[in-house]
Amino acid sequence: MKSVLFSRFFILLPWVLIVIIMIDVDTKRSSVRNTAQFYLSRLGNAQRHERPVSPWKNRTALPVIYAITPTYSRAVQKAELTRLSNTFRQVPQFHWIVVEDSNTRTELVSRFLARCGVPYTHLNIFTPRRFKRIGMPRATEQRNTALSWLRQHRSLKDAGVVFFADDDNTYSLELFEEMRSTRRVAVWPVGLVGGRRYERPLVEKGKVVGWYTGWRADRPFAIDMAGFAVNLHVILSNPRAQFKRRGAKPGMQESDFLKQITKVEDLEPKANNCTKVLVWHTRTEKVNLGNEPKHHQDTVHIEV
Ligand code: UDP
Ligand code: MN
Repeated sequence: MKSVLFSRFFILLPWVLIVIIMIDVDTKRSSVRNTAQFYLSRLGNAQRHERPVSPWKNRTALPVIYAITPTYSRAVQKAELTRLSNTFRQVPQFHWIVVEDSNTRTELVSRFLARCGVPYTHLNIFTPRRFKRIGMPRATEQRNTALSWLRQHRSLKDAGVVFFADDDNTYSLELFEEMRSTRRVAVWPVGLVGGRRYERPLVEKGKVVGWYTGWRADRPFAIDMAGFAVNLHVILSNPRAQFKRRGAKPGMQESDFLKQITKVEDLEPKANNCTKVLVWHTRTEKVNLGNEPKHHQDTVHIEV
C-alpha cells in the first residue's frame, strides 16, 4: 500500500512542479507589462504637458497644409530650402508647392526636392524681365501659378489650408498647429519685419481692429505674406482671386490679394489673439563671394 502511494506521489510531483513554474512565469510577465505600461503612461503624460493637446484625433483627418514657396537661383538657395525642409518634414499632413522663378525646373531644386522627405509639387514660371526691377513686387507669377495648380488639382471635397511660405523666413512648428484650424482667413504676428521687431494685427474681443506695423498702417491689410493663411475652400470658391501684377506696388500684394477674398472684421486671429511671434522674416545675409575670381576654380564640380 505504502509503495503504491509513493509511486503515485512521484508520478504527480513533476506535474505539480510544472504548474507552479507556469503560474510564476505568468505573474512575472504581467508585472513586466504593468511596469512598462506605467512608464509609457508617464511618458505620455509628460509629452502631454509639453505639447498642447491637438484637437485633431486622427492624423489623416487633418486638413492638409499647402505651403507655397516661390524660389529663385542664387548662392544661398539650397541653404534656404534646406532650412525650410527641416521644419516642414516634421509637420503632419503637409504638401509643399515649390515654384521656381525659372524657365525650367532646375537640376539643383529637382534633386533637392526628391531627397528632402517632404511631400511636394515642383512647378516653375519665369518672371518676365520687365517685372524684375527694384520697386516691383516679387514672386507674383509664382504664387499665382501655385494657386492655379491648386484649382486644377484639388476640389471642394479636399480639406486644406493654403499658406505663402517665402524661402527667406524661419517657421516654428507651432505656427502650423495654429493655422491648421483656419476656417476662412487666419492672421498672426510676424517677427523682424517692416523695420520693427515684429508686426501684428491688433485684436479686440476676438476681432482684428487695426495693425501694429512699421509703415503704412493705412494699408487695408497691413500684414506680411507670412502673416496669414487661407482655407482651401476659399481659394477654390474665389477662382479669380490672385496676386496683381498690373499697377501693383510692393507692400500692397497682401492687401490686393486679401481684399478679394475677405474683410478685416472676418479675419480669425491666431497665436493667442496675435500676441505670439511664431514666424520670422530672418532673411539670409547676402554672401560674400568676392574671393572667388582671385583663385583657381576647384577641379571637381561641387553643388552648394
Ligand atoms: N523670389 C523669386 N524671384 C525673385 C525674387 C524673389 O521667386 O526674383 C522669391 C524669393 O525666393 C522669396 C519670395 O520670392 O521666396 C520673396 O522674395 P524676397 O524675400 O526677396 O522679397 P521681400 O521679402 O524683400 O519682399
Ligand atoms: Mn523676404
